[in-house]
Amino acid sequence: MPPPEPGSAADVTAAEAFSADVVIVGAGPAGLFAVFQLGLYDLRCVVVDSLGHAGGQLAEYYPDKPIYDVPGHTVIGALELVGALQKQVAPFGPVYRFGERVDRIAARTAGGFEVDTDGGTKLTCRAVVLATGGGAFRPKRPEIDGLAGFEAGGSVMAVFDPTALAGHDVVVLGGGDVALERAIAAAEAAASVTLVHRRDDFQAAPALVVRFRTLVAEGRTRLAIGRPVGLEGVDGRLSGVLVRGLGVEQRVAATRLLPCLGTDLDRTGPAAWDLDASDGRIPVDPASFETRRPGIFAIGDGALYPGKLPLILCGFHEAALMAQAVRRRLQPRTRPILPYSSSSSDLQRKLGVR
Ligand SMILES: Cc1cc2nc3c(=O)[nH]c(=O)nc-3n(C[C@H](O)[C@H](O)[C@H](O)COP(=O)(O)OP(=O)(O)OC[C@H]3O[C@@H](n4cnc5c(N)ncnc54)[C@H](O)[C@@H]3O)c2cc1C
Repeated sequence: MPPPEPGSAADVTAAEAFSADVVIVGAGPAGLFAVFQLGLYDLRCVVVDSLGHAGGQLAEYYPDKPIYDVPGHTVIGALELVGALQKQVAPFGPVYRFGERVDRIAARTAGGFEVDTDGGTKLTCRAVVLATGGGAFRPKRPEIDGLAGFEAGGSVMAVFDPTALAGHDVVVLGGGDVALERAIAAAEAAASVTLVHRRDDFQAAPALVVRFRTLVAEGRTRLAIGRPVGLEGVDGRLSGVLVRGLGVEQRVAATRLLPCLGTDLDRTGPAAWDLDASDGRIPVDPASFETRRPGIFAIGDGALYPGKLPLILCGFHEAALMAQAVRRRLQPRTRPILPYSSSSSDLQRKLGVR
């Protein structure tokens, strides 16, 4: 489920989008807070996640649940925490690359690393932080003949951006929170929105269901009961989806397809990165969170060390210690100063509060 506010830098040059001081793999809570800790030392980050949005497990497994053990909050909603983290790191201008899975991390002869994604993106950086949690979430693909051609043609939206839907006929697939939320958001701008779902019953928060049904009653969205069995269009440009259900086949106008069918977990990444990882967990030195490969660090649920607890607050602690180690590595000549946010005017200027 998408968090409320994206927090990326507004203007990003092409060079900034492809190189950084640090590439962070994973936009769960640990990866997001790492942006803040590294930003204290002016280290610019690109954050890559295979999901189309930030939040990791909080967004995928328990978006509507309250969390009671985040320090300083008697209670905070999972998505609320994700949104707050994105806001908190926004002053440091992270570049987010959503919808891309990191497959390869190679040392460069000139120093630093090259990080390749399954989307064909090549990123260069001076250090890598793996905040890979329990693995890479991969959106489930619907099984429809010819889908790949429309994906290549740009008609299938992997990263949700409601502003890019203006004037489009949108078909959303699914019946969970994400599907309903996107159908509702798309209705703001799209020419038409149709939600395609197996039955007239949703596994989603009651408030979302009420909102969606209201939009249907007002004629601002449609519900097509059935499953998608075919796609129409030319040269990768989608024009319609065939839906079969309740004994009939109907054609739904569609220029954009948004599959929201949940996610699978892919744990293969760390095993391929020569890090002695076992079941996706990467051994680290708990003083620095560096892995066996110098310059590659691991934090959060994906890090393995004696006494490790898979808790959000542990990921925050690990991000702070990791940032010290990255700073020592990338800025060996600077004086080690630990800025207190309550009193450092330099840090407050970076945060835009002074
Ligand atoms: C149901 C449930 C309830 C929980 N409740 C609590 C709670 O109340 N309090 C608490 O402290 N903790 C709780 N937890 C645990 C908490 O959610 C985790 O500790 C936390 O999410 C770990 O954060 P992370 O950033 O390390 O990893 P994750 O949240 O797992 O995020 C990792 C991100 O990395 C991405 N990724 C991985 N590999 C790649 C790759 N190769 N390329 C691109 N992206 C990649 C993934 O897609 C994912 O988005 C709960 C967990 C569950 C399942």
